[in-house]
Amino acid sequence: MQRVAVLGATGSIGGSALDVIARHPDTLRASVLAAGGNVAALVALCAAHRPAHAVVADPAGLAALREGLRVAGLPTQAHAGPEALSALVAGDACDTVVAAIVGAAGLDSTLAAARAGKRLLLANKESLVLAGELLIETARAAGATIVPIDSEHNAIFQCLHGRAPGAEVQRITLTASGGPFRGRTRAQLARISPQEAVAHPKWSMGPKISVDSATLMNKGLELIEAHHLFGLPDDRLDVLVHPQSLVHSLVQFVDGSTLAQLGLPDMRTALAVGLGWPERIASGVGGLDLAAQGRLDFEPPDLDTFPCLRLAREALRVGGTAPAILNAVNEVAVSAFLQGRIGFLSIAALVEDALAAIAAEPASSLAALGDADGRARRHAEHAIATGALR
Ligand code: NAD
Ligand code: MG
Repeated sequence: MQRVAVLGATGSIGGSALDVIARHPDTLRASVLAAGGNVAALVALCAAHRPAHAVVADPAGLAALREGLRVAGLPTQAHAGPEALSALVAGDACDTVVAAIVGAAGLDSTLAAARAGKRLLLANKESLVLAGELLIETARAAGATIVPIDSEHNAIFQCLHGRAPGAEVQRITLTASGGPFRGRTRAQLARISPQEAVAHPKWSMGPKISVDSATLMNKGLELIEAHHLFGLPDDRLDVLVHPQSLVHSLVQFVDGSTLAQLGLPDMRTALAVGLGWPERIASGVGGLDLAAQGRLDFEPPDLDTFPCLRLAREALRVGGTAPAILNAVNEVAVSAFLQGRIGFLSIAALVEDALAAIAAEPASSLAALGDADGRARRHAEHAIATGALR
């Protein structure tokens, strides 16, 4: 029996993970469920999946969680706060951790899983962008297996049979749907509403990653993620827009072969790969019907209309704390956009401004990365509050 901690259980990835786990009651069990603030949703998941432990992010939610579990007649133990979460992740309550908290808030628990040598199903891409070298080194030292749960990186992981790429790999190409605004002009993007931005044509996801997909920052974060996971420099990492979202990424080898992984756009496939690896287990996702599909299209990304992808590549080239700054400002900007405080184009403008204003430093420690993250957040909040946007 593989006991699985699902962090971000009330979210989109968390729900997909629990769906796959519930299909395999003889081999998989959700033993820890963790969420942000939605106590009622967490209690409902506890009733359905009967974990040993449930964790809310905010200690102020502990009493409500305890009461909810009691009223539902559940034996699940209630916990609250980041320290309790990291202790549960590192302890013997779980063998596998699905890291699906959104944003830098997921870093501590993700690192705790890596440090404890757990199998780490890593959806929380921001932790890799923020502290990639540290996280990969921590996992390596502790013998933790990381299975990427981003469709592109999961595809590459499959093409490489779970091995690290050696000299035989020439290039890696991440595919991108292009988001809901592919083909639009900058003038059209200026008037985009949050509702339009979160309506992704191919994937059903949480609000933050949906906005990231609309700005193409998601693909930029994924470039940095791929660099850390697969160890390739940025000039061997490409992005290719593929609107049908059926080819999830490609690996080109020195002999001219290119391997790709294809499948319907449903994250349960990637999660089943992570939960079953190296075996294949059922995910609930059907196969492809390419005859019905008819065609697969590809085009280069439009970096002028969607500068976030260019900015992320620049941050990757600069290195040090630059990706942490990029990520932090983006989190602040996306949140402000979703609250209607700034326009869509201001997301990229804020990131560009912060990368120019804050000098990158060596990413020498978690403290240095935390400092860069904090400085960047304050810089962006100040720019938003004073209306100092270009
Ligand atoms: P979501 O918004 O649907 O869910 C986020 C989850 O995190 C929720 O359960 C929320 O309660 C929890 N959370 C938020 N702040 C927290 C905190 N401080 N402490 C504890 N829990 C907290 O997001 P999502 O779409 O499921 O994405 C989750 C992560 O997976 C993101 O990093 C995203 O980039 C990545 N990802 C998602 C998809 C997808 O298809 N949804 C694909 C690839 C990667
Ligand atoms: Mg992805």
